[in-house]
Amino acid sequence: MNLPAIAVRTYNQLKDDSSYRKLLKYISKKLDKIRDPIKRSRYVHKKIDEEIAYQFEDPVVRNLTQCKKGCSACCHSQVAITEDEAHLLVKEIERGAQVNWTRLWEQAKAGNDTKAYMKIPYSMRACAFLDEKGQCSIYESRPSVCRTNYVISNPKDCRVEEGEVKSVQLLNTFGADSWVYGLFSKNTYNGTLPVMVKYLLEKKGTKLEQKRKRYPTLDA
Ligand code: SF4
Repeated sequence: MNLPAIAVRTYNQLKDDSSYRKLLKYISKKLDKIRDPIKRSRYVHKKIDEEIAYQFEDPVVRNLTQCKKGCSACCHSQVAITEDEAHLLVKEIERGAQVNWTRLWEQAKAGNDTKAYMKIPYSMRACAFLDEKGQCSIYESRPSVCRTNYVISNPKDCRVEEGEVKSVQLLNTFGADSWVYGLFSKNTYNGTLPVMVKYLLEKKGTKLEQKRKRYPTLDA
């Protein structure tokens, strides 16, 4: 898994459009000027939030969207992130963000393989940053994909138990997707959140298995 499916879908739909290609060029130039991975992630996240806020000014979009506060079903699905974003998440961990090490460990074992991930029991599939109240412990720093997922079909279908196959319809977020595409294109190493966080933590000398053993069930 390299690029998020929604960004690829937008790219495939618009790649022959000259204004879209111009936009991607503009984004690429902007991102080339930012060398620091954390600053680059934060910049893209800001741009995504602006695009989404603009879309939500439209009452039709607001009415179509089924996402409700308190629902965290999409936080039980595979999230693709860039190496830049992994730097941001590891920074949050170093600052003391709440992490469920057991889930991070179990999910990282599935690698970037969606089929292997979907075989993990639903509760163990919850994102390592999802706290016991169903809230994101690193909300301000959440990855780009977490900022662009808005369901417009029946939200009951967002919850997928092991062995189930369901599909949901997501809001078209063309503007935001262009920034997601731009960020992923600037990173040579992208992957699922657990894989990327484990990779970076271990690169910095933190052994994930030791964390998991030290905090077997508790969030640390
Ligand atoms: S980072 Fe936050 S918003 Fe994204 S999947 Fe994890 S808990 Fe959910």
